[in-house]
Amino acid sequence: MSAPSFDCVSCGACCFSRNPRYLQLLPWDASRNLPSESLFTEGGNTYVSFACGHCVHLDLSAGKAACQVYEDRPEACRAFRAGSFECVKARRANGIMGVTARSREGDLPKAG
Ligand code: SF4
Ligand code: SF4
Repeated sequence: MSAPSFDCVSCGACCFSRNPRYLQLLPWDASRNLPSESLFTEGGNTYVSFACGHCVHLDLSAGKAACQVYEDRPEACRAFRAGSFECVKARRANGIMGVTARSREGDLPKAG
């Protein structure tokens, strides 16, 4: 059996969530250059906005799952290691390219 590929640009599963407060900025993110229009503050915390079930910085065009702010991505994204327990869990829950999550949201045509 071949090992699964953990190429993030062909995956993006951990950038999907239905929780609007999924991605909270941490103190280390203060110096990062994230577009202010992609952020919101609630209860004293700052979060990256999600739309259509995924982070607003995730570009799903051209058959890829590309982070548009990769160099400035938040600390929480950096801590998410490809192949880790959390990574495998996200891939199971949301699917490669978010196929499971998008189908759940009715964002993909149903098979058959
Ligand atoms: S779920 Fe894993 S392989 Fe997929 S983008 Fe996230 S860290 Fe990379
Ligand atoms: S900032 Fe980039 S890596 Fe982090 S959730 Fe958004 S698209 Fe994914």
